[in-house]
Amino acid sequence: MTGGRRLGCLLGDGIGPEVVPAARRVVDAALSAAGAPAVEWVDLPMGAAALAEHGAPLPAPTLEALAGCDGWLAGPHDSESYPPQWRASGQRVPGGELRHVFGLHTNLRPSRTRPGVPARVPAMDLVVVRENSEGFYADRNMAVGSGEFMPTPDLALVVGVFSRPAVRRAVRQAFALAARRRGQVTLVHKANVLHLAFGLWLEECRAAAREHPGVRLETVLFDAMAARLVRHPERFDVVVTENLFGDTLSDLAGELAGALGMSGSVNAGDRHAMAQAAHGSAPDIAGQDVANPVGMVVSAAMLLAWLGERHADPVLAAASSAVEQAVDAVLASGVATRDVGGTAGTAEFTDAVVDRLSAPGAAAPAVGRPGA
Ligand code: ATP
Repeated sequence: MTGGRRLGCLLGDGIGPEVVPAARRVVDAALSAAGAPAVEWVDLPMGAAALAEHGAPLPAPTLEALAGCDGWLAGPHDSESYPPQWRASGQRVPGGELRHVFGLHTNLRPSRTRPGVPARVPAMDLVVVRENSEGFYADRNMAVGSGEFMPTPDLALVVGVFSRPAVRRAVRQAFALAARRRGQVTLVHKANVLHLAFGLWLEECRAAAREHPGVRLETVLFDAMAARLVRHPERFDVVVTENLFGDTLSDLAGELAGALGMSGSVNAGDRHAMAQAAHGSAPDIAGQDVANPVGMVVSAAMLLAWLGERHADPVLAAASSAVEQAVDAVLASGVATRDVGGTAGTAEFTDAVVDRLSAPGAAAPAVGRPGA
């Protein structure tokens, strides 16, 4: 790696201005410990503050600047708090708009139990591969409009979009990931009712399974999956599914593994990737220094891993692994935020992770926690 990567920094709403800077500090510490060039951070407005100041939650200059970045950290948005005129306009929410504009077609959402964190299950380690550009969030795939229609005040229609190229792309990513992990892909579908849409998913999964003889394929109905995930989460490795199902199941998996605030997430396209934690803006706890920064921190680690793979840069991969290890070590030492039974504030927890990364020998060689 010759120069530092250029990364955007979008605080967003609610707890975003607390957890995004925390993740940024951790990235800086990890890269410094790994001997990598420092990131060139680009601060950009997004969310309610951007709406008030620039008239849009995702102003055009933000989009233009992001196009010149390698990736970015994005906080959550609280579009429910935006003025009624904006909500009535039918515009995509900022996260959806970013996924649409930059073609961030795949959302990886790992959930695993971590040392020292009380979980609802004994052990689990899975990754949800969520097709991110269409499915039942049809607004993501429309050139114009939201995919929702209201012919009369008492009738709402919603379009689901399932294209073979998008399905194939998600399925191939899932199989490639499973081949590097424990070798199992679970397709979550609803082909018993939606024969055509999920017929495509089944066909693509069976084709991919033929190309990956070392990966087992199982198929589970969405409703059955909700129950199975609660009862036996340890049995799943890579779960691949459409947009809305993936959104739902990854929140469930995150909560089972500890708490929603622990879950990382990266939205990846061919040229850009966005680290954005799985949780929302949590306005109920915003500004109190109690938000759990782990979800955003491990999302940033996933972004480093994505950049490392894209640019064949083992130093970035090592920095990503070091962040994961530092988070685990801090949690194992009993330092945790209150949502997972601890007493540390956001800043105190972040300090502990940064200290751990800055300790001699912290930037261990990449150990390859696949998908994490
Ligand atoms: P959205 O619609 O934006 O996804 P939501 O209200 O459905 O938002 P969250 O904002 O994620 O969901 O919050 C759900 C609950 O989880 C809230 O009670 C919130 O306090 C808690 N929560 C979410 N993220 C965190 C976090 N990082 N740290 C601590 N608690 C969190």
